[in-house]
Amino acid sequence: DEIIRAERVRKSYGRTEVLRGIDLAVSAGEVVCVIGPSGSGKSTFLRCVNHLERLDGGRLYVNGELIGYRQRRGKIYEQSPRDVCRKRADIGMVFQHFELFPHMTVLQNLVLAPLIVRRRAKAEATARAEELLDKVGLADKIDSYPGQLSGGQQQRVAIARALCMRPRLMLFDEPTSALDPELVGEVLNVMRELASSGLTMVVVTHEMQFAREVADRVVFMDHGKVVEESAPHEFFAAP
Ligand code: ADP
Ligand code: ADP
Repeated sequence: DEIIRAERVRKSYGRTEVLRGIDLAVSAGEVVCVIGPSGSGKSTFLRCVNHLERLDGGRLYVNGELIGYRQRRGKIYEQSPRDVCRKRADIGMVFQHFELFPHMTVLQNLVLAPLIVRRRAKAEATARAEELLDKVGLADKIDSYPGQLSGGQQQRVAIARALCMRPRLMLFDEPTSALDPELVGEVLNVMRELASSGLTMVVVTHEMQFAREVADRVVFMDHGKVVEESAPHEFFAAP
């Protein structure tokens, strides 16, 4: 079962070609770490997968559906904003700078999308939020505001928030790069647990130790292309 299939995916900003033909497939349950120099297009690729960019070429299938289009009765149409919303509901994304809603409590951050997008009952959404906060070790912060939390705690809330939607795929864009070094471990531990739970994850990271221990596959990007792909023990083997 393929969760992501990218075929010659291209993306430019103006005259700058940022993705120059990405080919990549990610299977259900796989944990793929994407590494590579700054500016090589890693974030842009994740944003393409999460419907935050319009492709300039190639095809990208996510959760079995072609990005930018929808199929109905064997015909292919351009997707509507509603299609995008429906497809994005199955993808969780965690950003470098957490992106929590600062004027909302932790609980309000977690239940917002389930209430609005999934139209869950409040009691059900709240129960799920409590369960996930417990899982990331922050049950006691449920009524706090993001500004009252450390960066590591905010990132764990952001992960719990994404999981509230029961995504089939989780995307992480340098989730620990903005954290003080002593807070990195608590976030990586949560991600490690998620990885072993069988969730499909694509993680852009500079944490080589994490990639080596947790990834099923390491993908190296450079100048808008995948230039190497291998199992971590091969990737990190001494030359
Ligand atoms: P990485 O995540 O590997 O650091 P990015 O995908 O963030 O790389 O960026 C790749 C290149 O695309 C960079 O040169 C960056 O400046 C450029 N870029 C990213 N987003 C935009 C944008 N919205 N407009 C113009 N250029 C962009
Ligand atoms: P990242 O740390 O994910 O690589 P950056 O700090 O490079 O992200 O960029 C932050 C934001 O600015 C992103 O939304 C990206 O799309 C945008 N951006 C990056 N480079 C450019 C650029 N050259 N022109 C316009 N927007 C850019």
